[in-house]
Amino acid sequence: MLKNCELCGKLFAHPARTLCEDCYGKVQESYEAVKEYLQKHPGASVAEVAQATETEVDTIYQFIREGRLSIIPKDVSLTCEICGAPITTGRICRKCRAELAQTAPKETQPGTKRLVDDSRVRYLDQIKRRR
Ligand SMILES: [Zn+2]
Ligand SMILES: [Zn+2]
Repeated sequence: MLKNCELCGKLFAHPARTLCEDCYGKVQESYEAVKEYLQKHPGASVAEVAQATETEVDTIYQFIREGRLSIIPKDVSLTCEICGAPITTGRICRKCRAELAQTAPKETQPGTKRLVDDSRVRYLDQIKRRR
């Protein structure tokens, strides 16, 4: 199935990617550059990283939200999408992640299924509202 690249709008075919081959390669390059810069300059700010790596600030934030960077710029503040606690990577804090992991295996038990579904709907609603 053909789709349009999210960045350049070019038509391309790939089952999972939202970017064409060219743009995907560029984003990968940016990611490597950002990661490397942060390893060398752990106290750098987002603006500094963006300038040094010639990467859009939005792109850097996307890497952070995806949890791809182990070191993040010092002025980035992320909060857990469930409880609002400050976090350094991904979308939810370690505590909520542990709780989600705990509820996951219970899905197979019929009695607790509805409860799990309810909390998942709430979680998805929270994500939607942030967008
Ligand atoms: Zn493209
Ligand atoms: Zn949390």
